[in-house]
Amino acid sequence: MELNKSLPGQLKLFNFAKKEISLSGIYQIIDFPKISEIASNKKDNVRVDLSFYLKNNKTPCVDGIIQLDIVLACQRCLEDLSIELKVNFNLAFLRHEQQFEELDSHYEIYIIEEEELATHDLISDEILLSIPMVPSHDYNCLKEINEQEIVMEKSENPFTILKNIQKADSGKE
Ligand SMILES: [Zn+2]
Repeated sequence: MELNKSLPGQLKLFNFAKKEISLSGIYQIIDFPKISEIASNKKDNVRVDLSFYLKNNKTPCVDGIIQLDIVLACQRCLEDLSIELKVNFNLAFLRHEQQFEELDSHYEIYIIEEEELATHDLISDEILLSIPMVPSHDYNCLKEINEQEIVMEKSENPFTILKNIQKADSGKE
């Protein structure tokens, strides 16, 4: 089992890209404070795969996939909302804005000051970008909660139960 393997703390962008290094790591949500703040499943895994390469012989790039299930509070009903995230990204690390036009438009541009980038920052940013601004259930969850309450009220009414028994009996005949 290699469940605890993790990526290096710093990504040496040019160096990794030149060597075309591919890295995989498994973290827990709790490893990323900004994510952990809003997620209730803090012990669940975050799987990260990164492949580095040089574009045009000079621009370090990384293709990445981050996979996790995240449990957030629905902004409509405040109940748990589980979202399966699979974040695919293609980043190009540039020092100068002039290089923009030489790259395909599917690259997200990351302007860097230094050759190294903190792995946690990169992962944390990409996850935050992929979380919906206002997470909410994709059905009318407030309506469902109201209906559940009505059903509970009804079942507490002995007359309703009696009616149901009568119905069941008549159904057998
Ligand atoms: Zn909801």
